[in-house]
Amino acid sequence: MARKPMMAGNWKMNNAIGEAVVLTQEISNNWWKDWEDKVEVVICPPFVDLKPVKTVLEFDKTKIFVGAQNVYWEEAGAFTGEVSVPMIRECGCDYCIVGHSERRGLFGETNEDVNKKVRALLGGRLKPIVCVGESLAVRDEGTTNEYVCAQVKAAFAGVDAEDAAKCVVAYEPIWAIGTGRTATPEQAEEACAAIRAQLAVLFGEETAQAMRILYGGSMNPGNVDALVAEPDIDGGLIGGASLKCDSFIQLVKAVMQ
Ligand code: PEP
Repeated sequence: MARKPMMAGNWKMNNAIGEAVVLTQEISNNWWKDWEDKVEVVICPPFVDLKPVKTVLEFDKTKIFVGAQNVYWEEAGAFTGEVSVPMIRECGCDYCIVGHSERRGLFGETNEDVNKKVRALLGGRLKPIVCVGESLAVRDEGTTNEYVCAQVKAAFAGVDAEDAAKCVVAYEPIWAIGTGRTATPEQAEEACAAIRAQLAVLFGEETAQAMRILYGGSMNPGNVDALVAEPDIDGGLIGGASLKCDSFIQLVKAVMQ
């Protein structure tokens, strides 16, 4: 089954509202109607930028999706500093990144938290982009596939195949994020193929073949072609290279079929 490729930009904690609007407008100006069938593009800005970014895209009628970088699983209440699924949906989100290694590493997010977020998003009709990835220590130990498959299993606990099919998985080796050190296409493919095999165990072959698996970790216009040529890599989750219109558009074009 042909999977529509995806390029998702994770702006992290960059771009205040003014800069976010300018960058979105630049990206929107480069958008062509016929791209719609060939690639799904997602912009994931900080919470405060969600509505302004969505407004630019709606005004331009540009078919680019908006995603949040995080969410809390409760709907409302005394959870100071948190933002709920209905709140990000109201800002125009279709997607939300969950379990990014920076959230796991810097903010103590556990596999259980990731699972609660995945289920809350699906319950609120939003699509999770579930991040998994190993540290350098795990890779050196030779247990990468087991490690990322355990993360996948935990993230999707209690999720059925119909809901899983709406999700995207991003394989992001921690040692490659923001370091300029990319996984080789062979390393990335091996992990993505193991993830797809795990998804098949959980949800059946048909669902696993329909789900998109992205690679993330210092992807840039120089290395994208070799990475997305791999059979189990369906696009990218992009940090640094998504902060400039030029490089982001080059990545979008590289993944179009
Ligand atoms: C990321 O933040 O998910 C990421 C992959 O970052 P970078 O592209 O900068 O390595």
